Amino acid sequence: MSVLDSKIPKGPLKDKWTNHKNKIDLVNPANKRNIDIIVVGTGLAGGSAAASLAEMGYNVKTFCYQDSPRRAHSIAAQGGINAAKNYQNDGDSVYRLFYDTVKGGDYRSREANVHRLAEVSGNIIDQCVAQGVPFGRDYGGLLDNRSFGGVLVSRTFYAKGQTGQQLLLGAYSALNRQIAKGKVTMYNRHEMVELVKVDGKARGIIARNLETGELERHSAHAVVIASGGYGNVFFLSTNAMGSNATAAWKIHKKGAYFANPCYTQIHPTCIPRSGEHQSKLTLMSESLRNDGRIWVPKNLEDVLAIREGKLQPTDLEEEQRDYYLERRYPAFGNLVPRDVASRAAKERCDSGYGVNETGEAVYLDFSTAIQRYGKQQAAIARIENPNEKDILKLGEAVIESKYGNLFQMYEKIVAENPYKTPMMIYPAVHYTMGGVWVDYNLMTSVEGCYCIGEANFSDHGANRLGASALMQGLADGYFVLPYTIGDYLSNEIRTGKISTETPEFEEAEKDVSERIEKLMNIKGTKSVDYFHKLLGKAMWEYVGMSRNEEGLKKAMSEIKQIRTNFWNDVRIPGDKNSLNSELEKAGRVADFLELGELFAKDALYRNESCGGHFREESVEEDGLQKGEAKRNDTDYAYVAAWEYTGEPSDAVMHKEELEFNDIELKQRSYK
Ligand SMILES: Cc1cc2nc3c(=O)[nH]c(=O)nc-3n(C[C@H](O)[C@H](O)[C@H](O)COP(=O)(O)OP(=O)(O)OC[C@H]3O[C@@H](n4cnc5c(N)ncnc54)[C@H](O)[C@@H]3O)c2cc1C
Repeated sequence: MSVLDSKIPKGPLKDKWTNHKNKIDLVNPANKRNIDIIVVGTGLAGGSAAASLAEMGYNVKTFCYQDSPRRAHSIAAQGGINAAKNYQNDGDSVYRLFYDTVKGGDYRSREANVHRLAEVSGNIIDQCVAQGVPFGRDYGGLLDNRSFGGVLVSRTFYAKGQTGQQLLLGAYSALNRQIAKGKVTMYNRHEMVELVKVDGKARGIIARNLETGELERHSAHAVVIASGGYGNVFFLSTNAMGSNATAAWKIHKKGAYFANPCYTQIHPTCIPRSGEHQSKLTLMSESLRNDGRIWVPKNLEDVLAIREGKLQPTDLEEEQRDYYLERRYPAFGNLVPRDVASRAAKERCDSGYGVNETGEAVYLDFSTAIQRYGKQQAAIARIENPNEKDILKLGEAVIESKYGNLFQMYEKIVAENPYKTPMMIYPAVHYTMGGVWVDYNLMTSVEGCYCIGEANFSDHGANRLGASALMQGLADGYFVLPYTIGDYLSNEIRTGKISTETPEFEEAEKDVSERIEKLMNIKGTKSVDYFHKLLGKAMWEYVGMSRNEEGLKKAMSEIKQIRTNFWNDVRIPGDKNSLNSELEKAGRVADFLELGELFAKDALYRNESCGGHFREESVEEDGLQKGEAKRNDTDYAYVAAWEYTGEPSDAVMHKEELEFNDIELKQRSYK
């Protein structure tokens, strides 16, 4: 086991980024024109990076597997993006955003990275406003904010429930401008399937043209991976169906360490599963917890009556309801962080209080907010003694203006009107905090290979606070990588054009070709989804919301077995030389089947509870925190970065010890 060097600059925390930027070697504009950069992924991280790097003068080639960058999974982001602007005058600051993010991540992130993130957060909003992103505004026309879980200030900028879509349109416009100028060459419907290294440095990729099946060689002086998260290792998640880990996993197998794979976020407010045949879960934005109150019935008889349809939730009086988050966490109430809210819902449902047929649902209720807003609006409109009907109408209008599209989406899926009856929600896999290990410059352990956005592990520790992922992706793409990549590229100005007619490219292409051939020739009896679902079940059962040693060992051996069966019995119809979505899926699931095992191994080694990783063996036994997750800072305040050595179970751990000089490590309490 070696100790990793994260290359964090010396000096006081608040000056590190500024000093680092001041000292980074620059590439002169004439030289930038001779340097090529590959960016894999055109979501918010990759799109913003590609546009910025091209704007700076580099030649950029970007790749996405969809038919347009506009379809990247980032488009699904609903709730908002954080920034320390303090527009609400409620005491926010760069320090507070930094503090909340480190605390929210359960003290398992790098202080220096998080502080940099907080520093550049304000610039992101300015950049996006300049691009025309239509953020929500208040009555006076100023940018509005709302709160998200785990914080006591309002710092979340939003565009209704479509923040990701609007931000992506902004990044996409910037990208398109560079495509039109010839500085970016865009490869839609292309999937990166291998990294090419020459003399230890990343020098290109092998991409498969998904329409023709052709394998293509692309060279560059640096390769940036911005391929998103790996939540779909669970099969069911709130991620887009196509989201996958292939690009990240391929670079891992070529030497990039994979950090903290077990840190996964289970989001508390998703539409519950309706049965076995579902292939996708739907998020209801966390912003709803601003106004929605979470509860289950206090009495088990009421639970049963509701399940049998003999009682409606609206029939229960206040005193018959258990607002369990408000009861357990009076300081933060319904706005506790996601990991805490998810575990609390599971605890209630495991105790038998789940309110739907599967027993896996709790209520998210807007009736109190509708009443509050209704009365407020009536007062503003000078309506004296408003009747109940007027109050409801006025209140519902406010809720509609804030969350209308989310309510509409819920009604379409569940066929119930959430203005009139409480929504049902249950936790679901949502986001992965783990990912490719990167140093302060966002470079992986492969020289010249960078990783940004959800694909890297960098800023969220063991738990992501709401609205922080968009902030990190855009910080990486617009404001961090464009500086830090210069540090490496300034040494590449004499390299010249990189040929793809070399043994390294030839060998990489041959490996890909043989792997595809192998998959096509299995001609087994089971679909790719069959194996993906088995993997998902093992992950959810043993590596899901709570984990223990026995289950994790079982998960490792089950996943290995599923992988063996996959390689013996998967059936891929069609051929490899045309559009073949089953073949695409097979390649991705083959990678998930390896990643899943490493994930379980990482969870097994981390014998503490922290953030989204809850070990049943590590729970507070007494006092105010009884039953809550118990962190172990003495033994586990490190990043586990795994090196690939052949089999996921043989991966070797490298530790990056985390130093906390500016924040005192405390037990996270939201009570
Ligand atoms: C339903 C939902 C709602 C969310 N809401 C919020 C929110 O309100 N606020 C917030 O901060 N975060 C939110 N998140 C999280 C956030 O949306 C994501 O973390 C973020 O958008 C990820 O951006 P990204 O650019 O890293 O990756 P993505 O947007 O996933 O983009 C990945 C890109 O990589 C490409 N790609 C992947 N693999 C390959 C390959 N092998 N070859 C070529 N191209 C490849 C894809 O084509 C795509 O262009 C939400 C997430 C979900 C699931």
